[in-house]
Amino acid sequence: MPATASPAEAYFRNIFATIKSITTGMRITLRYMFSKTVTIHYPFEKLAFAPRYRGIHEFEADMCIACDMCAKACPVDCIYIDKSGARKIDKATGKVDTKGGDLLRYAIDYQKCMFCALCTEPCPTDCIHMGKNHDLSAYTREDMVVEFAELDGKGLRTPLPLWVERNAATIPWVAHEKKRIESGELATKDADITAM
Ligand code: SF4
Ligand code: SF4
Repeated sequence: MPATASPAEAYFRNIFATIKSITTGMRITLRYMFSKTVTIHYPFEKLAFAPRYRGIHEFEADMCIACDMCAKACPVDCIYIDKSGARKIDKATGKVDTKGGDLLRYAIDYQKCMFCALCTEPCPTDCIHMGKNHDLSAYTREDMVVEFAELDGKGLRTPLPLWVERNAATIPWVAHEKKRIESGELATKDADITAM
């Protein structure tokens, strides 16, 4: 049987273990304290996204014929569409004929969306795109369902996140992003999957 340490030996062993542990911790801290940081102070600083980054969708309601092709392609069934009647593209304008049916609902549930872009592939009018915004926060689960047809009524093609509204006055790139969203300008179409 191993000999039991006396109280005095145990006391000094504990002190030694504590000093060794603190020394090891401080050595690691000092090693990383002066190295280059890999995180940034978002949103005050911002990383550039890859051109094909897939973020919150951008939707051109005036070109949507409510054909349901995107909803059928969605692997998690998170696109909800409703219309009052047949919608057709007016060849002269390239937009939906306003005399046709109304788009009553076009919504995407971002609690389920996995940003696969498969909804962009079958769209016959190329009106649903993968955008560049990634940070859509909300206070309720219901608010994570984005009603794109309602946004269109406000002249928006993608939601204006709360953090953009709150930081636009103090952060220049956020002000620029707010202006872009409010103008209805698309971020890019690079991340869409184009039909073969
Ligand atoms: S990106 Fe994918 S998961 Fe999200 S709505 Fe489109 S098809 Fe569905
Ligand atoms: S596939 Fe395109 S046109 Fe058809 S419902 Fe979806 S977004 Fe609208």
